[in-house]
Amino acid sequence: METFEVKAYGTHAAAGLLEPLHIERRKATPQDVEIDILYCGVCHSDLHTARNDWGGTRYPAVPGHEIVGRVAKVGRGVTKFKVGDLAAVGCMVDSCRECLSCRHDLEQYCIPGNTGTYNGRDKHLGGHTFGGYSEKIVVTEHFVLKVPANLDLAATAPLLCAGVTTWSPLRHWKVKKGSHVAVIGLGGLGHMAIKLAKALGADVTLFSRSPEKEKDALALGAGQVIISTDQKQMAEAKGKFDLIIDTIPYVHDINLYIPALTVSGTIVLVGYLGPLDPMLNTVPMILGRKSVAGSVIGGIAETQELLDFCGEHHIVSEIEVIKIQDINEAYERMLKSDVRYRFVIDMASLKNENAINPDFIH
Ligand code: NAP
Ligand code: ZN
Repeated sequence: METFEVKAYGTHAAAGLLEPLHIERRKATPQDVEIDILYCGVCHSDLHTARNDWGGTRYPAVPGHEIVGRVAKVGRGVTKFKVGDLAAVGCMVDSCRECLSCRHDLEQYCIPGNTGTYNGRDKHLGGHTFGGYSEKIVVTEHFVLKVPANLDLAATAPLLCAGVTTWSPLRHWKVKKGSHVAVIGLGGLGHMAIKLAKALGADVTLFSRSPEKEKDALALGAGQVIISTDQKQMAEAKGKFDLIIDTIPYVHDINLYIPALTVSGTIVLVGYLGPLDPMLNTVPMILGRKSVAGSVIGGIAETQELLDFCGEHHIVSEIEVIKIQDINEAYERMLKSDVRYRFVIDMASLKNENAINPDFIH
């Protein structure tokens, strides 16, 4: 298969910094859309992957799955896009398209497994997939999304992961006017969860360790903030929420939040991947018919539904635009929960790439 070379940013090892490198992209097949990447959001999953937090990272790792750009080429079988259109790509670039999940627009739960935008198995070139910290990406049409024309493009990028990852549980658990929703953690996912739940008509509360974020949470649409380290505030939250979306990236005690659910309420984990520690106490679950659930990103149709909803409701992410050369510093700030509330890389900076930011010491 014919390929071409593009500039990218990635890392060769878990302990390494992200640095300039070159990767190969396939030339567009008849089903493909080739996109010039304009902006790429920075998700905590990018950091987890670059640093091999989950195991299984293949190197070099080029993260990035909140991609917006402009169509540069289309294969002759492409019908939804033409050269010059805005286009977006999220966390998946392929799936089997045949299994029960795929047939129900749940490509994220593809039974043989979806192809991640990065660190997936590249069906075309062999090896693994490379994400959006690059000049261009080539993706089969089904996995390319339409971008509403009225939204700020850089601030739209985070909708492709942070947005849809919180939208999907809000829709699955049928959040509507009058629902009581809580969000744990005010970062990229958390701030989108607040905006989207509010736009669906819910009453929204934030659980946070960071009292200094309270003002922002209220401005984003939360009606209340509960400081999760304050036992009195936590005790007062008993029995209040139909749905809690937990975005915390690292192991934590979810038992602290279960009493805050209503009878039949659900806490859905979207952040931490791995065994719980401490273990889950079943007593409040059994005695209150409460559910502990998980959810991963969203399907392609659901992602388009979210983008269209955001277009109609003028919803975008709160962002800090950075240059690709600042990515290592951005990761360190993300680890300190010092993001207001999503970094987005202006990919024009990759074109002028010279060297890694010399001021940053890992
Ligand atoms: P983020 O921007 O870093 O936000 C995470 C927030 O969680 C922080 O701002 C902080 O909020 C809180 N937090 C961080 N560390 C914590 C700790 N040790 N204990 C308690 N709270 C902590 O991250 P993100 O991009 O939103 O991603 C969140 C998680 O979701 C990551 O693990 C990411 O890999 C995962 N993710 C999952 C999916 C999916 O499909 N399920 C999709 C995308 C991302 P406060 O300061 O308010 O406490
Ligand atoms: Zn993500």
